[in-house]
Amino acid sequence: MQFEGQIRKMTTENHSPINYYWNFKDDFIVMNQLLGKKIKISFDHYECLGCHEDKEIYQMGYCKNCFFTLPEANPSIINPELSTAHLGIVQRDLDWEQKFELQPHIVYLANSSGVKVGVTRLTQVPTRWIDQGASEAIIIARTDNRYEAGMIEVSLKDIITDKTNWQRMLKNDVPEVDLFQKYHEIKSYVNKDFIQFLVEEPEVLKLEYPVNSYPDKVKSLNLKKTPIIEGILKGIKAQYLIFEDNSVFNVRGHEGFYVKFEI
Ligand SMILES: [Zn+2]
Repeated sequence: MQFEGQIRKMTTENHSPINYYWNFKDDFIVMNQLLGKKIKISFDHYECLGCHEDKEIYQMGYCKNCFFTLPEANPSIINPELSTAHLGIVQRDLDWEQKFELQPHIVYLANSSGVKVGVTRLTQVPTRWIDQGASEAIIIARTDNRYEAGMIEVSLKDIITDKTNWQRMLKNDVPEVDLFQKYHEIKSYVNKDFIQFLVEEPEVLKLEYPVNSYPDKVKSLNLKKTPIIEGILKGIKAQYLIFEDNSVFNVRGHEGFYVKFEI
């Protein structure tokens, strides 16, 4: 069977294990059913998520022009503390920014390759954690907007990383951590102006991925260098496909690539 279309990040459903869906324009593939099977992904051309033109993807699925002009890629998407929508100050498109940034956000601790801190919209729980390959996560603060969550994250960045080590995450080389205890250790570092948003008794959510066996070392595939990727799928974690030969393919990292997909 052959499908074709622009790559978007896989959608997910939190089951044990998590269900993954690869979406095309009018079709989708239940990726869990492909474990143990051979798949082939061939790069055809680019289709920017913003302008839909065949222009080289720069970052986040956008061509260079879209990345530097669209509100979807404004600086506070990466650094929430830079959000100015609550002040009515425009970055690229105030309407868009107010809708996106002035809604409930959370600050979380997640363990994907060690403890990290992060920010996301409340509606992105647990999607965001799944996309990062977290084994478990807790909500430590609930805020009214993106800026407040960003300020809490910033006050914790000196003591906890905000990055995931993707190689360790994919090898399932995850240290045992008590997230609840960790939260109580770091609570006092939160900027005093924002402590009213902290959660008293966070609940731990555990996540289970559809992976038959984890690789010992990982080799990352890139459609720019390897336009045809072929292999037997042995697992899916975060937004990565893991193949039998220990090569891995970051689906989200290829948003905006238009591909042919053969099963
Ligand atoms: Zn574009």
